[in-house]
Amino acid sequence: MVEFASQTVAVVGAASGIGRAAAVELAGRGARVVCLDLDHDGAKTVAAALPHDATAVHVDVTSQESVRTAFDSAGADLHALVNCAGTTGRTGRPTHEVDVDDFDLVYRVNLRGALLLSQAVVPGMVERGYGRVLHVASIAGKEGNAGMAAYSATKAGLIGLVKSMGKEYATSGVTVNALAPAVIQTPMVEAMPEHQVRYMTEKIPMGRLGTLDEAARMIAWIVSTDCSFSTGFTFDLTGGRAVY
Ligand code: NAD
Repeated sequence: MVEFASQTVAVVGAASGIGRAAAVELAGRGARVVCLDLDHDGAKTVAAALPHDATAVHVDVTSQESVRTAFDSAGADLHALVNCAGTTGRTGRPTHEVDVDDFDLVYRVNLRGALLLSQAVVPGMVERGYGRVLHVASIAGKEGNAGMAAYSATKAGLIGLVKSMGKEYATSGVTVNALAPAVIQTPMVEAMPEHQVRYMTEKIPMGRLGTLDEAARMIAWIVSTDCSFSTGFTFDLTGGRAVY
């Protein structure tokens, strides 16, 4: 098991689901975790239960000002950023019925937010010659889910962002990768219509949802010193479902 002693890791979207599981996993391995979320009370609750002086910082990733302020107080010595902030927006409608304002919100959280977070942390990492950036995308970004046009499009964009960044910072000591889960058992999934979850689960060869522990352990490895020769890459977490 890779340890994170003397490392500081920022987990965005830490109040819930995959982000919370990642924060717990990383703190358990010795990291000082900064828990960032729009849901500040939720992030504070998570941080309060973690060892190694974990803190909670409010952030709204749709706001450049909020991201700047948050990372001013998150500290300048971050070793890793784990970005789990995400939203599906309204699902279940065909693309011709997608509400443009809803599309904009999904874009601002899932894709523009990832850009703002990257801009906040990468310069310091490059200066120090070490860093790990991980954005949580989705298998929906590779194949496109029906009734989830905004989500699928923004996750595809995120995979493209990570590819570009991987090349740009390849010789700097900073790696930038994405994780593409299929369906993980989280509140986001529990909030989706049952038929949509069934549609996604049926396509997983292992025939089950992924667990939060499985997601957290994989995230921990990708942002560890052990994962040193992969960048610009999207790692699948899909129970055998491969989409290229
Ligand atoms: P979740 O809803 O449990 O957690 C998402 C977190 O993001 C919440 O704590 C929420 O407050 C935060 N957030 C939302 N908007 C924000 C904003 N503007 N600023 C800051 N924080 C904000 O969801 P989850 O299932 O844990 O998903 C985490 C990530 O994994 C998302 O990017 C999601 O798209 C992706 N993903 C999840 C699954 C799955 O099956 N759960 C599958 C594929 C990809």
